[in-house]
Amino acid sequence: MHPVVDLRSDTVTRPGVAMRRAMQQAEVGDDVFGDDPTVNRLQARAAQMLGFEAALLFPTGTQSNLGALMTHCGRGDEVILGQEAHTYRYEAGGGAVLGSIQPQPLANRPDGTLDLAQVEAAIKPDDAHFARTRLLALENTIGGRAIGRGYFDEALALAKRRGLATHLDGARLFNAAAKLGMQARDLCRGFDSVSVCLSKGLGAPAGTLLLGSAEFVGRAKRVRKMLGGTMRQSGVLAAAGLYALEHNVARIAEDHVNADRLAAGLGQLPGLQVEPAQTNMVFVRVPAGKLAGLSEYLLRRGVVVLPGARMRLVTHLDVDAAGVERALAAFGGYFALT
Ligand SMILES: *Cc1c(COP(=O)(O)O)cnc(C)c1O
Repeated sequence: MHPVVDLRSDTVTRPGVAMRRAMQQAEVGDDVFGDDPTVNRLQARAAQMLGFEAALLFPTGTQSNLGALMTHCGRGDEVILGQEAHTYRYEAGGGAVLGSIQPQPLANRPDGTLDLAQVEAAIKPDDAHFARTRLLALENTIGGRAIGRGYFDEALALAKRRGLATHLDGARLFNAAAKLGMQARDLCRGFDSVSVCLSKGLGAPAGTLLLGSAEFVGRAKRVRKMLGGTMRQSGVLAAAGLYALEHNVARIAEDHVNADRLAAGLGQLPGLQVEPAQTNMVFVRVPAGKLAGLSEYLLRRGVVVLPGARMRLVTHLDVDAAGVERALAAFGGYFALT
């Protein structure tokens, strides 16, 4: 059905026939009045599935993370997060620009975690010189790496001891859970809030859920309104999200198998340095001299990549095992030539 093997991101998936049917048949209402039964069902289902009191549907993950930051922090408060965190690096500085929240970034270690001694040292004393450190924001998966439960137990204990709220950017929480062989709810237990994307590995066209206590979600609702993220007959999108939660969670492990196969095949090619895939992402270093022309060559063979010295290749719902073989053949052809 898809003429190309698109490895740029797991966000490129298109809703299939069954998901579109669910969208077409969705019962809808005006969600500003709380009247959309499909949105309400999605939120209730996600909350129950992930072990939180409540959930709130946002149009995007960027807005859900920003909504979480602005619900946890007031003007002049501070969030501690990783240099590589999506919320710090790839969300246009929204927390600072729109929330007046000071970011305190710390270097991520090679496994994606933050050194908790550094986290503790970064917490500011209660003194008029300093911003008020309010929030610790972590991410799982981060750059395709899954972080295990033991680390979060320690991080959450530190946050609790020092009076910080906690947020998890779980855009790809289900990938992390599949990698670790855990239930997603066990992986995010203990966080005050969690953001989970429906539009990545789960394959919905849009939507991210922010989960937390009923009180937290009640306050986040005002922030979402302020940010312009409260939609009307969004049951059309929620139906896709419900379909995704019901049908596309268990299959995420297939994406990891495909990524492993992709990494193994690329590892056979001369000159490529391939990092072992942990979840659905493969990172490949391409020698500088071979980069020019690579993506055009692949594109002519129906394989789409984002070029770069350290290329990220992502598997997803719309790339099957045959697609991986096709990508490997195209890469193989290029490196045989050059
Ligand atoms: C994709 C992503 C988001 C949110 O992205 P949107 O494109 O705004 O939906 C947030 N965090 C992480 C880790 C992501 O990968």
